Amino acid sequence: MENELYQELSLKNKQYVWHPFTQMQDYINEEPLIISHGKDRKLFDVLGNEYYDGVSSIWLNVHGHNIKELNEAINEQLNKVAHSTLLGMANIPAILLAERLVNIAPDGLEKVFYSDSGATAVEIAIKMAYQYWRNIGKNEKNTFVTMKEAYHGDTIGAVSVGAIDLFHQAYSDLLFPSIKLSYPHLYRSKYEGTRKDVTKAYLNEVENLFIEKADSIAALIIEPIVQGASGIIVMPPGYLKGLDALCKKYEVLLIADEVATGFGRTGKMFACEQEGITPDILTCGKGLTGGYLPVSATLTTNTIYEAFLGTYEEQKTFFHGHSYTGNPLGCAVALANLDLFEKKQLINHVEEISSFIEESLRTFYDLQHVGDIRQSGVMIGIELVLCKETKEPFHWNDRVGVRVTKRAKELGLLTRPLGNVIVFMPPLASTKSELEEMLNILYKAISDCTEKQ
Ligand code: PMP
Repeated sequence: MENELYQELSLKNKQYVWHPFTQMQDYINEEPLIISHGKDRKLFDVLGNEYYDGVSSIWLNVHGHNIKELNEAINEQLNKVAHSTLLGMANIPAILLAERLVNIAPDGLEKVFYSDSGATAVEIAIKMAYQYWRNIGKNEKNTFVTMKEAYHGDTIGAVSVGAIDLFHQAYSDLLFPSIKLSYPHLYRSKYEGTRKDVTKAYLNEVENLFIEKADSIAALIIEPIVQGASGIIVMPPGYLKGLDALCKKYEVLLIADEVATGFGRTGKMFACEQEGITPDILTCGKGLTGGYLPVSATLTTNTIYEAFLGTYEEQKTFFHGHSYTGNPLGCAVALANLDLFEKKQLINHVEEISSFIEESLRTFYDLQHVGDIRQSGVMIGIELVLCKETKEPFHWNDRVGVRVTKRAKELGLLTRPLGNVIVFMPPLASTKSELEEMLNILYKAISDCTEKQ
């Protein structure tokens, strides 16, 4: 019975669905994983197999799946209204959520502009920064600075400030140019010396650029504390603070893209808090609704907001919005998510489990191909290398990341590789015993695929 249902769905999946970031030729030659339901930290497929969600449904799940309080919040709102536009109207959950976000965000971020994905939150940040300078008469500040290997989403503006060749190269003729700097990558650093020296050297690159070109730069966009999609690269302490100081000194807006790091991932509500900085614009999404519904937000300062005030004829209006902007169902579940953060003291929990994970991961270095383990809170990347001494990477064709994640799935853990980096990002509410089981599976999967048997 289950098998029949699976066969039918599998055929329809192959016939009708085009999956994101997926080489469909490979995909349709394999049997798909079809999820039927979830409970807490586990997902169940239609064949009755169960898996730990070790990647938080692509980095966004906070409490787990099918969480009573979150389900109830949606149902309650559903019985009132599912949709009402923010164009000329307001709705209760959107108002209350905006207040709540301002209260938990780094001090000085006072206004919330909603949208519905990480990419659109970034798109808004770009347009907002660009128009801010025009609105105050500095039209020449129109260029964006980003980091090599950055990932900010898949819409055209977000891809323009993205820099992962594999994902972005194909669209290069469509994009606006941006200046790319090096993200401080300690494991594969181009600079030598102490961590402090290396941090300084990377900051010098920024300052040299600003000295030459700040007059033409609108903003610098960064994934604070952790550059995610490039392979979970954790920046050294002091870098973000240094960057913030340089942006202030040279009058460049700082956009912190917290789509992945926001809502507790790195052990603080927002990663910017790790270094006590307030960016001019902060984007967030993913964990905002606990991973339930597509709501994202772009937060900014009153200074930026006020530059958009004026009569309609002055054309300072921010001409941007989507059909689902400020969707009440999404905002209601986001509020319930934030209630649960408080009720469960989730930030403290993350602190506890991240030390537990850090300790458990030490044994992974016993494996001969584990080159580097990078962690910030519950955001972990394990880089597999062909040779530890030389750091020589596995060859792309070897597909070591894909093989390890396939093995982990067979053993009951879902994760997703980024090239040779195995990403481990379980829901923030995972318990120590769940994490222990997940990490045992991960260890075995890496060992089975890379150790000489
Ligand atoms: N910015 C960052 C830093 C991200 O990690 C992501 C998604 N992984 C995005 C933006 C895009 O978010 P979305 O997939 O919701 O559009």
